[in-house]
Amino acid sequence: MVKAHLIAVGSELFLPGHEDSNTLFLRHRLFELGIPVVGVSVVGDDETALVRVLEAVPRGANVIILTGGLGPTEDDVTKKAVARSLHKSLRYDDKVQAQLEQFFASRKRKMPENNLRQALIPVGARVLDNAVGTAPGILMEERGCLYFLLPGPPREMEPMFETQVVPLLRQKFGERRIVQRHFRLTGIPESAADQIAAPIYRRYADVATTILSKPGDIQIILTAADDAAGGAASLERLAGELAKVLQEYIYSADGEPLESVVGRLLADRRMRLAVAESCTGGLLAKRITDVPGASAYFLGGVVCYDNVLKQELAGVPADILDRHGSVSSTAASALAAGIRRKTVADLSLAITGIAGPGGATPDKPVGLVYIGLSYADKLAVKKFQFYGDRERIRFQATQMAMELLRRVLLARPVGD
Ligand code: ATP
Ligand code: MG
Repeated sequence: MVKAHLIAVGSELFLPGHEDSNTLFLRHRLFELGIPVVGVSVVGDDETALVRVLEAVPRGANVIILTGGLGPTEDDVTKKAVARSLHKSLRYDDKVQAQLEQFFASRKRKMPENNLRQALIPVGARVLDNAVGTAPGILMEERGCLYFLLPGPPREMEPMFETQVVPLLRQKFGERRIVQRHFRLTGIPESAADQIAAPIYRRYADVATTILSKPGDIQIILTAADDAAGGAASLERLAGELAKVLQEYIYSADGEPLESVVGRLLADRRMRLAVAESCTGGLLAKRITDVPGASAYFLGGVVCYDNVLKQELAGVPADILDRHGSVSSTAASALAAGIRRKTVADLSLAITGIAGPGGATPDKPVGLVYIGLSYADKLAVKKFQFYGDRERIRFQATQMAMELLRRVLLARPVGD
C-alpha cells in the first residue's frame, strides 16, 4: 500500500509568521490523489538533523516528499542530507548548469558563484524542471521508495508538484481514489462511544478510523482506499456496523453540522422555530443562523438575561421566577411556552442555566442547565449537568437544545 511521509525543511518554519504551509497543501492534494500521509516532520536547516529525520521515517513509507532547502546558499542542505542518508555522492549536472547560465544571461545578470550549487545533483537522481524559479527539483528512487525534493517557496513548489510529481505518482501507483464516511454524534461521552466503537473498527485493518471529539460533539471519520483489495466495501461494512450500534446518537453520516441537520428537518416539515436564551446569550440563534437560508424556518428569538426581560419579552410570570428562580425547570418551560405564544412559531426552544465560573449556589452548581421545548400541545423540559469552562458549557447547552429538537422532529414524519 502506498504511504507518504512529508518533510518541511527550513529553520524559519519555527518562527512566528513563517508557518509551514507546504505540508498542508501536500496533505490535501495527496488525500485527493488517494495517497495517505502517515507522517509529517518539520526540521531546521541542519544537515545532520535532517539525516536523522530521514533515517527515522518508518519503513512503510514509499513516497517521501521534502520541501525547502534546495537554494544556492550554505544553509540549503536538503540535497546533501538526502545524498548522505542514501550513501550517494553529488555531481554537477551539465544540463542544469546550462539552464542556470541561461537564466542569468536572459536577465543580463552575472551568475553568482554559489548559484552553481544548484547544479549539484545526487548520482542517479532525476531532475524536475522549475518553471518559476532557479532551484530544480529532484527525484530519487531507492529501495522501493521515491524521494521528491521540491523547492520551499509555495509558488515554485505547487506548480512543480502538479506538473511533475502528480503524473509520476499516477504512473507509479495508478489512479487511486479514497472513500470516506464522516459520522457526527452527540448525547454520548467520547469514552462511552469509543467503548462501543473500538471493538468493531479494530477488526478493519484496511479502514483508517479517526475520532475527533469535544464535549457535546463526536466525529468518527472512516477513510479507505477504493482499490482492488476492496477497501471501499470494507468501509461500507464498518460504517453499517457502527451505524447500527450508535444509531440513536448519530445525527449525520456525511459531516453535516447539527445546526444544518436540524434546519433541514424544520424546512422539510415547513415548521418554524423561535428561541429564548438566557445563559447562552444568543449562541443558539447564532448557530442556527450560521446556516444559509435559515430564514425559511427560523423566526428569531430573544436573549433574556435579566429577569425583567424574561417577563416582558418572553412572557414568563413573575411569580415563577420568584418561587423557583430563573434556573429551574418551571422557568425553562415558561420561557419556551412564552416565546412560542409571543411569536407564530410552531416550535420553540428555551435555555436557562449557570455557565460559570461564578453564580453557583449550593443546590445550583456551575453547568446546571435546563432546556425547554414547546411544540404542538406539548411542553418538554430536560435538566443537564455539563462540565468544563464557560465556553464548553454554553456550547453543550446549544448542542443539546438542537438535539432535543432533532429528536422531536424525527418522531414526526415529513409532510404530517
Ligand atoms: P529557492 O532557493 O528557489 O527560493 P529553496 O528550496 O531554497 O528555494 P528555501 O530557501 O528553503 O527554499 O525557502 C524559501 C522560502 O520559501 C522561505 O523563506 C519561505 O518563505 C518559503 N517556504 C519554505 N518552506 C516553506 C513551507 N514549508 N511552507 C511555506 N513556505 C515555505
Ligand atoms: Mg530555507
